Amino acid sequence: MSVNVIDGRQLAERLVEEMAEEVKARTGRGYQQPGLAVVLVGEDPASAIYVRNKIRTAEKAGLHSVVTHLNASCSQQALDKVVTELNERDDIDGILVQLPLPAHLSEERIINLVTPEKDVDGFHPMNVGQLATGQAHLVPCTPLGCLEILKREVGDLSGKHAVVVGRSNIVGKPMASLLLQANCTVTVVHSKTMDAANLCKQADILVVAVGVPELVDSAWVKPGAVVLDVGINAIEKDGKRKLMGDVDFADVADICKAITPVPGGIGPMTIACLIKNTLVAAKQRGVKQPVV
Ligand code: NDP
Repeated sequence: MSVNVIDGRQLAERLVEEMAEEVKARTGRGYQQPGLAVVLVGEDPASAIYVRNKIRTAEKAGLHSVVTHLNASCSQQALDKVVTELNERDDIDGILVQLPLPAHLSEERIINLVTPEKDVDGFHPMNVGQLATGQAHLVPCTPLGCLEILKREVGDLSGKHAVVVGRSNIVGKPMASLLLQANCTVTVVHSKTMDAANLCKQADILVVAVGVPELVDSAWVKPGAVVLDVGINAIEKDGKRKLMGDVDFADVADICKAITPVPGGIGPMTIACLIKNTLVAAKQRGVKQPVV
């Protein structure tokens, strides 16, 4: 079978270009330029790279952006103050606090503090509830990126058997909700699941988000399935740092219909969907440019 390697970078670029057109058209109609605020705490190198990529993509789409960088030892009170001020700023439509936070800070508190209409990560319990009840506006970016890919690769998802491996709040659970809403039959597999490989082998669509390098090999995949590899695992190999997915790409690629690579698959689509959410938030807020 000739494998279709899904180019997440190219899809993301196209999405960002489409959004840049939309932003231009909206500002032309008198709406304020959408604004994204990113809060980074500490010096984690991976988080710093993610933030840089998010800001770069926001600028490509014509958004204005604000980065607040706090010291790793900052107090909960100081972080709360930054988020509260961003909640109140009229020029900011989307707020993202880069996770994970240093251990002395409460992620749960921050997730609850970001006002739901600016919660472009889609982690606030109100947005989680709206997703679960089919009223979603702001949906976690990674599963949203996966859905965009599936819509383009598979088309109508109705009646497909989708298996999601992983049940985290940021990927697995919202992914399962989105697939259910798209009329898939959904199975969720996690670390306590019996006979995970056989369940996965029944999937038309297999989404893997576990954080275990190359857990899924060809014994887990039905021939002709579409496989989305969400995993990003940094591995030291021959003295070099390498990024690996949760799927054994070389083993699976020959039997599946289409597969996302790591890197260059889900990662860029996740960032594009952050911009999409900021645009959704801006449209909902509908703030006009000040009349001068
Ligand atoms: P979590 O650690 O929060 O969740 C992992 C999930 O995988 C859990 O539900 C766990 O089950 C399940 N799991 C672990 N081992 C197994 C196993 N052997 N068999 C079946 N299920 C298993 O991870 P995240 O969801 O946050 O992230 C998953 C991966 O995706 C990571 O590599 C992360 O870096 C990557 N990621 C990539 C993003 C991107 O933009 N591409 C964005 C977000 C994450 P249980 O609940 O029972 O413990």
